[in-house]
Amino acid sequence: MSDAERAGGLPVEGVPAERVLDEIRGLRALDRPTHGGRLFAYVYDPGVAGLDELAQAAYAESAHVNGLDPTAFPSLLAMENALVGAAAGLLGGGPGTSAPDVVGSVTSGGTESLILAVKAARDARPELTEPRLVVPVSAHAAFAKAAHYLGVALDPVAVDPVTLRPAVQDVAAAIRPETVLVACSAPAYAHGVVDPVAQIAAVAAAAGVRCHVDACFGGWTLPWLRRLGAPVPPFDFAVDGVTSISVDLHKYAYAPKGVSVLLHRNAALRAPQFFAYADWPGYTMVNPVIASTRSGGPIAAAYATLRHLGEDGYLELARRTRDAVTGLADAVRGTDGLRLMAEPESTVVCFTADDPGLDLFVLVDELTARGWHTQPQLSYAGLPASVHLTVTAAVAPRVVEFAPALAEAVAATRAAGPVVLPPELLALAGTLTPEALTPELIAGLAAGLGLGAGAGDTDGPAAPVPDRMAVVNTLLDAAPVRLRERLLTEFVSLLQRPAW
Ligand SMILES: *Cc1c(COP(=O)(O)O)cnc(C)c1O
Repeated sequence: MSDAERAGGLPVEGVPAERVLDEIRGLRALDRPTHGGRLFAYVYDPGVAGLDELAQAAYAESAHVNGLDPTAFPSLLAMENALVGAAAGLLGGGPGTSAPDVVGSVTSGGTESLILAVKAARDARPELTEPRLVVPVSAHAAFAKAAHYLGVALDPVAVDPVTLRPAVQDVAAAIRPETVLVACSAPAYAHGVVDPVAQIAAVAAAAGVRCHVDACFGGWTLPWLRRLGAPVPPFDFAVDGVTSISVDLHKYAYAPKGVSVLLHRNAALRAPQFFAYADWPGYTMVNPVIASTRSGGPIAAAYATLRHLGEDGYLELARRTRDAVTGLADAVRGTDGLRLMAEPESTVVCFTADDPGLDLFVLVDELTARGWHTQPQLSYAGLPASVHLTVTAAVAPRVVEFAPALAEAVAATRAAGPVVLPPELLALAGTLTPEALTPELIAGLAAGLGLGAGAGDTDGPAAPVPDRMAVVNTLLDAAPVRLRERLLTEFVSLLQRPAW
């Protein structure tokens, strides 16, 4: 074969199985550790021995099965119905409840669940040419994505800088005749605060508008925490006016990635979520969710995880998580210069700095350098920058090590001092409009920050990703929202280049 005939990215001769797996393991070694209880974002680890192996075996069993057609593969339909039943039962639906007719769909994740909740609400009101969506600014970014994808206008409602919740009268005031959906969170991801769901659902119902509760994060923890005695306010189908709820099984149900559930109070509310098409010569098509072909792997893995852990298992994991949250929050409270953004009411610990000598973005890097992976959050609309910790059960045995590590990282952060950007760069970040950003300027910025430059020139598939992010975060923090978005897009575009 001449070079011209070669596909490029593919090896000419197939690579033996063991070597391919070695390649993957080599790449995985660069990743953040998914186990060990020191990663506070992206990965949800129960720390239960044997659970990974079970989920992997279940995944393999169904990986090639296609969720496209439930009549061809009834195994997936059965497992999906079991997942929906479990989620509905946990969230105030099912026989004997005030939501006996609840139905649902299994989606690929929280984002898909939210997009479909917005789609169902939009398509239930076909007479509206300019449908609108009301959400607190603390709601997940996926609502903005849904609005963008679906041509729905977004009406954000401010949150109080102290309670981090929207005022119910502000939600009510944002509802217009074109509003198809009001959404709220239980809890919102960033600070872990539960919105006043009952009051928001009441004003939505009074206006005849659907109300979605985004419990992607908390839907699988709040019910267990409540059983353990936590003062969890009503947030599920027990609340009149709540028409749909999303809950991610790949978060606190501890299933491998790719599974969320979207519940509706009844089938009529769900109907406009579906897409059916018979106006082509191929197979008759009906898709309850966005994807058409869908792997059975994630569904089977979630099914196995839920069945294996059971109520007792989840209750015990919630207990461990709650104790870990308490311990981490105590460590933050005991640290001069740090303050909790909110008293933990779910499984998030979120803190900010109230001392200018303590740069949070440097602190995040210092914690990373010590093996603790936290998530920085930029300042936004009067809310200060913060550090987010998603706490899972696997953190519990590590908690005693956190306070000393935090103290050390804080000392190192103070010693290093805050990031100081060159004044020209700061001025640029504050005034530059996204439109004025040229490719040259971006490349210059990236190179100046030691980022991404030449990311496409590596010979291996591993792109270089910087390990110190404080300078980047400081620059982003200084930029207005639209410029942040543009810089992030350009940065990831530099990373995403074909490997030859
Ligand atoms: C994670 C999350 C989402 C988005 O879920 P993905 O699975 O990442 O798409 C939406 N809402 C909340 C509250 C979340 O925590």
